[in-house]
Amino acid sequence: MRFTAKNIPCNSCGASMVYSPKEAKLVCDFCYSTVDIPLGRAVISEDYHNAIHSHPMLDEENYSGEVIQKEVTCKKCNASFNLHQKSFADICPYCQTPVMIDCIQDITPHGLLPFLITQKEAQKKFKIWVGSRWFAPNAFKEYLNESKKLIGYYFPYWSYDTRTITRYEGERGDRYYVTVSKVVMVNGKEERRDVQESRVDWSYRSGMVEVSFDDVTIGASNTIERSRLDEIEPWSCEGIQPFNLNYISGFKAEEYDVEIKDGFSLAKDKMKPIIESRIRRDIGGDEQRIDNMQIQYNNITYKNLLFPVWIASFKWNKKEYEYAVNGRTGKVVGDRPYSYIKIAFAIISALAIAGAIYYYNGLQS
Ligand SMILES: [Zn+2]
Ligand SMILES: [Zn+2]
Repeated sequence: MRFTAKNIPCNSCGASMVYSPKEAKLVCDFCYSTVDIPLGRAVISEDYHNAIHSHPMLDEENYSGEVIQKEVTCKKCNASFNLHQKSFADICPYCQTPVMIDCIQDITPHGLLPFLITQKEAQKKFKIWVGSRWFAPNAFKEYLNESKKLIGYYFPYWSYDTRTITRYEGERGDRYYVTVSKVVMVNGKEERRDVQESRVDWSYRSGMVEVSFDDVTIGASNTIERSRLDEIEPWSCEGIQPFNLNYISGFKAEEYDVEIKDGFSLAKDKMKPIIESRIRRDIGGDEQRIDNMQIQYNNITYKNLLFPVWIASFKWNKKEYEYAVNGRTGKVVGDRPYSYIKIAFAIISALAIAGAIYYYNGLQS
């Protein structure tokens, strides 16, 4: 499928403008003129059940799973290339001009959090993070000195709101102490003594708790590991702007790759422990058991959002490493590569020091 590339042309020179997180404006890379982006209205959540009923594609039975090739021609250099299947914004691989196309999923993005952290700042935070990792291999640290490796992505997220009502049955445990007579050893002799022992008195409890959730966010991209999308949280949904290509220009951006229903199942997993802790408080006592709970999700609404993330990935020792920096808070997440040589040296020197101390103490006494 052919798509028409969209750009945001500069009024002064016609080159493409890109979003600058530093200035929170559109900036022309060529003549440096800037354009303000007016702040938009609040982004309103939409009804979840309506979305599922009005988009039959969202039901698995209707899903064809067809892969759409997204062919696009760069407006500047005329080169044609394919975008990643879920991608709707990228950079021309030949001339680095932003290339944006229409979103084609059933649900188009409602809003986004613009990048706050610049690539430079992200790079700095990333370096500090790695620097604090003692055993990182030198090759890895060297890699960091080559800048421009962090790529800015707007990743799709679902954000759900719901008011839950949960009926539960369980048990409340109240601890009490009893005095028992026991044979204990005192100075190597057996002796009978009174000792205190704790017991738990369990009693049946049932009840109902109400918990409201606002903005339970679920990463909807498969480009990076789900655990990264989770670890990089929290996202503060304050500052969300209505969807606008002005913020996207110059970055990569994707549409959701996790369906709205699957996203909600993941949201349930996130909400469950919070509901459970509320039930435990409701039960009271010293210990609690929850035997069953029936959760009702009322007034479910959702937003389809884009959140900014800086990504670095590279291969080292045949293993793929992936790092993500939250484009709002600067939080860094990822696996830490360890240099086994460095670890071995650290152990050897620790042993050597311990040996030296032992030897020294031996001489002293
Ligand atoms: Zn210009
Ligand atoms: Zn181009």
